[in-house]
Amino acid sequence: MALGGGREIGANSFYYSIDGQGILIDAGLHPEKTGWAAFPAVGALAGIRLDHLLVTHAHTDHLGGVPYILQSYPNVPIHATSETIELAKIMLLNSASLLPKQHTQEVIEALPNYTVTALPEVLAKMEPMELGTSKKLGSSGVTVTYYPSGHILGAAGVLIEHDGLRMFHTGDTALHPQRLVTGAQLPEGPIDVLISESTNGIVDAYLTHSREKELERLIQTINETLADGGSVLIPVFALGKLQEMLVMLGDAKRDGKIPDVPIYTGGMGRKVSEVYDQFLASRSRTNAIDKTSDVKQHELPRRAFLFGGNYFREPSIVLAASGMMQEGTSSYLLAQRWLRHANFSICFVGYTDPRTPGHTVSHAERDSRIRFGSMKRDVTARCRIERFRFSAHARREELLEIVRRLQPKHVVLTHGDEKSIAAYGELILETFPEMKVSAPEVGKWYRLN
Ligand SMILES: [Zn+2]
Repeated sequence: MALGGGREIGANSFYYSIDGQGILIDAGLHPEKTGWAAFPAVGALAGIRLDHLLVTHAHTDHLGGVPYILQSYPNVPIHATSETIELAKIMLLNSASLLPKQHTQEVIEALPNYTVTALPEVLAKMEPMELGTSKKLGSSGVTVTYYPSGHILGAAGVLIEHDGLRMFHTGDTALHPQRLVTGAQLPEGPIDVLISESTNGIVDAYLTHSREKELERLIQTINETLADGGSVLIPVFALGKLQEMLVMLGDAKRDGKIPDVPIYTGGMGRKVSEVYDQFLASRSRTNAIDKTSDVKQHELPRRAFLFGGNYFREPSIVLAASGMMQEGTSSYLLAQRWLRHANFSICFVGYTDPRTPGHTVSHAERDSRIRFGSMKRDVTARCRIERFRFSAHARREELLEIVRRLQPKHVVLTHGDEKSIAAYGELILETFPEMKVSAPEVGKWYRLN
């Protein structure tokens, strides 16, 4: 049963009932919804037992609902990689600090686990389970194995085996390596059931570009902007995209492809970068050498002082969260000033949800008037706006490659909007007509064996 992440990218959470044992994979928070709809639908379990909670990776849409699950199941053991546990210390505090801005007082009061004093107890329940290792869950006869899934540091795909049945839950995954994080490893096929993410299931012209070409195009845009006396704003996710972009820009500087201008980073992203540097030997890394701290960085001012930053006076590159310019974040605030400067540019490097300010800004025509978030007045989009894709998710053809390699009898599609799931589902059925494909609805039971 999906408690979230069924037919959408939401509060990802999937409950498996295996021979009387209850196993939950992930418990996320929905990035857009407010109120109880932002949390996994744990009420659908209505007192059904939960024996183990597995967390695939530390992004909030997979991890942020863990303290909420513990309110109903306070003694459930949580299994996650050491990398994910370290990142969770940063990410859960961030979720707790954002909740009062996103929810009513009534909701906040019903969430005792999201406080600075309660979170350490939540984190203490997380038991390390490393990439490449297996664990028998209690006396249930269920064995789970964590495979590196690419995507971000410490991310895992989960193989679940019981009495000859083999199911693989991809988590968020990418087969292609990124600059810091390696591509996914998969178990040996054939398996019985594949539970697959579907983020990039739809045909997207941007995703047909190679990463090398996209990087070339980005470097060219940066050079043209700096040469014109302007600064470059790159909205990024604080976990994953910031570290990848930072090291790529460091490479470009070292190789003389871009001039030695200041690079600004700040806030939570810097703490995440420290964890990336702490786990140089992680199985999810492409190499044990590259540190984010080797790239010289200037500190992005706190939100109240963002408009006083030197990047408005000298050509600079600013890496600011969030990637989708969510209301109140640094990139959201900076964009309002950035847009007024004709010689500046904003470079989007990832997916933007159509409901977010980042989507409005990234699709704005030059010199058109736009309004986003809770802005009271229009602003003229005078600066240059470019879109690039450095996806941390499998492209459509990679998703199909996962199916090809694992040869499942049944594919369950999750973590994608309705269009992506429909397009990916059709592609699977065209290529492998003998397979069964389903897309679970939140709160409904599905039989997998
Ligand atoms: Zn993710």
